[in-house]
Amino acid sequence: MNLLREVSEQDATKIGQELLRFAEELYPICRSITGDGIRRTLAKIQDRIPLRICEIPTGTPVFDWTVPKEWNIRDAYIKAPGGRRVVDFLKCNLHVLNYSTPVHATLPLSELKPHLFTIPEQPDLIPYRTSYYNDEWGFCLSHNQMLALEDGDYEVCIDSTLEDGHLTYGECYLAGRSSDEVLISCHACHPSLANDNLSGLAVATFLAQLLSGRDLRYSYRFLFIPGTIGAITWLARNRETAARIRHGLVLTCIGDKGGFHYKKSRRGNTDIDRVAAHVLRHSGESAEILEFSPYGYDERQYCSPGFNLPVGCLMRSVWGSFPEYHTSADNLDFIRPSQLAGSLFVCAAILDTLENNRWYRSESPYCEPQLGRRNLYWSAGGETSGEEEIMARLWVLNLSDGNHSLLDIAERSGILFSTISEAADLLWQKGLLSIIPDPGQGTPAGGTSREGNSQLRKGTPSVSTARSDLLSSGDGRE
Ligand SMILES: [Zn+2]
Repeated sequence: MNLLREVSEQDATKIGQELLRFAEELYPICRSITGDGIRRTLAKIQDRIPLRICEIPTGTPVFDWTVPKEWNIRDAYIKAPGGRRVVDFLKCNLHVLNYSTPVHATLPLSELKPHLFTIPEQPDLIPYRTSYYNDEWGFCLSHNQMLALEDGDYEVCIDSTLEDGHLTYGECYLAGRSSDEVLISCHACHPSLANDNLSGLAVATFLAQLLSGRDLRYSYRFLFIPGTIGAITWLARNRETAARIRHGLVLTCIGDKGGFHYKKSRRGNTDIDRVAAHVLRHSGESAEILEFSPYGYDERQYCSPGFNLPVGCLMRSVWGSFPEYHTSADNLDFIRPSQLAGSLFVCAAILDTLENNRWYRSESPYCEPQLGRRNLYWSAGGETSGEEEIMARLWVLNLSDGNHSLLDIAERSGILFSTISEAADLLWQKGLLSIIPDPGQGTPAGGTSREGNSQLRKGTPSVSTARSDLLSSGDGRE
């Protein structure tokens, strides 16, 4: 498989604009962890990929949790003493505390104020706040907007319902040759927030489109779920399926102008951790590798000790670290077509690497085989073009002793995986290598001819380890 080459041959600007257009389509919908907002979002994803919609009834026990009541909202406003709507849900769905219980009352400003949420440090922005598991109602508005409210009686109305219903999620399964799975998971529960929510949804949807109808080594499972409770619900209902997950990625916040961050799985040394680090090191963009911590997005659930799945989280800017996070400034201007496209390319390179990582054994382990007579070595002219390809051949021949995968060889040689993979394919075609089964995995290595995928630009970004300054705030708050 060579997804990256295929997407790289298309116009990156056009791909980026298509990703942005999809985010634009989803942006106005008022999503939450249950209700018609997430249903409408999943329906738009279903227009593009085969998606199974699952409805789990309120009250269903899921491990230590219970599927909550379903929340829906039609309208909400605060009317000033003169009758003018000063806060209007129909203009911005962040104005309502997400999961607010219904209310219709007239209150003096002093009694209204405890129900108002603002960010004094960012006085022009509307905050995004939720109250999923406490019966509460409230409005979110800019601090300046609140300061401008004059004394008097205010009519408040939240036309919502919180009733027995369902929790809804979407699942796209693409069968491969092996029942071993690659999981791609993203949350679909935030209202009009672009980077935190829609960037992951758009890239995941496009990735599933790219993979559809292909001959795949792994089977792929894409989950579009409400954060935290959605992952918990899916895991509670799919324990056997979860045991088949060999590699997984949570995608979020991948449309902003920041460089990449990859948060490792709890195990910290799984193939997905190594593949993500390798791809990012060669991506030409700045990238930082973060150690696992039990906070953040749904990797928290996939990496809970009972599951301990090999699932990491790919981001650009890290949640909580950018001032636009969970505010009205995380809007469509905050995400960029070029960044969305770059994220899609990195995901494609990661999946290519997982698909093409194999184990070979040299058929000629006693001294080097004579590459020159096979036209695999420098010619008599001594030209240096193709030097890296020749070095890749030498590395593959040397390390293909049954103890090294192509990923091991790429890491040890410092050469891009796709160059190593192409070298191995060529040597295999020349009869110098045989394919051997992956140790420790049920996945047969497969023996189809493959093509090169060295489209990633080669750069020298900083890839450092551990970063622990991320606890300022986090996603997946209850
Ligand atoms: Zn969030």
